[in-house]
Amino acid sequence: MAYYFHRATSVAILANLLMVPLLQLLMPAAVLAIGLSYVSLWLAKIPAAVAGFALSGISQTVHWLGGMNIADVRVPTPGLPVLTASGILILIAILMTRRSKFCTAVGVALLCFSAVGVWEIRPHQRLRPGVLEVTAIDVGQGDSLFLGFPDGKTILIDGGGLSFWMHSQMDLGEDVVSPYLWSRGIVRLDAVALTHAHQDHMGGLPAIIANFHPRELWLPEGILPDEIPDLLRIAQRYGVKVIHHQAGDIFDYGRATIRVLAPDPQIPVRLSHRNDESMVMKITYGNTSALLEADAEKGTEKLVSTEQPAADLLKIAHHGSASSTNADLLAVVHPKFAVISVGARNVYHHPRIQVLERLQQAGAVTYRTDINGASTFYLDGSVVIPRMPDLR
Ligand SMILES: [Zn+2]
Repeated sequence: MAYYFHRATSVAILANLLMVPLLQLLMPAAVLAIGLSYVSLWLAKIPAAVAGFALSGISQTVHWLGGMNIADVRVPTPGLPVLTASGILILIAILMTRRSKFCTAVGVALLCFSAVGVWEIRPHQRLRPGVLEVTAIDVGQGDSLFLGFPDGKTILIDGGGLSFWMHSQMDLGEDVVSPYLWSRGIVRLDAVALTHAHQDHMGGLPAIIANFHPRELWLPEGILPDEIPDLLRIAQRYGVKVIHHQAGDIFDYGRATIRVLAPDPQIPVRLSHRNDESMVMKITYGNTSALLEADAEKGTEKLVSTEQPAADLLKIAHHGSASSTNADLLAVVHPKFAVISVGARNVYHHPRIQVLERLQQAGAVTYRTDINGASTFYLDGSVVIPRMPDLR
């Protein structure tokens, strides 16, 4: 809340300084122009020109402020001490207004001090140390997974997104995922990954890169630059290192091990099955692991099945579509927990009843973002502990 407050405050102070004098000029000039127009149209042109000047000044100021980065300063939700101190300073500033010029100047200084404090004193990342966290953020019909690693590193896999036919101005990266990450005290991500070039996974990522300046952007090998122009442009703008991953890649990350199981560039994907271009990863910490399937379908699941994919937690593929989460895959993964990222009352009728039945038969305890909201799992190296979201 403080983030929005300070953002609004800084813009409001500037807007007041620049626009109030213009507004004071606009109203009398406009009234005078209307009054004089009854006497002489020629005379009315003078105050009308002044009113026009004031109006264009106001409009240009709005455009200028809107384009300035100062109108776009982002800070995470501050800790309670900073929030309290900032609130007290704002209260004192309000009390000092209009007492004397000196008091007003002190009040403005206190407001600035409070804003700088919120900007500079960053809260600690709210992560459990020494565990691997996997959180499916509730982005409706789409995917966005937050990963916190045992050493404190953070990754976001996919950023949600709305399909173009929804005709919505909402940016899930800006309006849902970013506020969630700020609420966790996260100001910078170590990496952002896009599993495949579908809007419900990539739509929110440009805003995430702009807000959290990740060091790396992971993409599946073979992804076409033409399909992700916004993402590549913004990655270049913020100097984000782009890394392509493919089946067979294996590396240590944040005291865990990441194994990429798909895509395999040697296996061509049919145009009708582009979900099979998905980057599938298995992340292992100690004796616990999570298999993150993105939107993989039958073809990719067949490939993944042969790559020792056994995992305690399975991020269900393609929002619970019947073409994924096949019985053969479940037999080799043998998950204790499953999580489905899916929108409530979606038009695709995901998750399909067949998938839920297969999961039940496989003995996996299943969580759904449409019912449970953001669903978090802690992998501590020995066991997986699911955490239900707080009810508010
Ligand atoms: Zn999807």
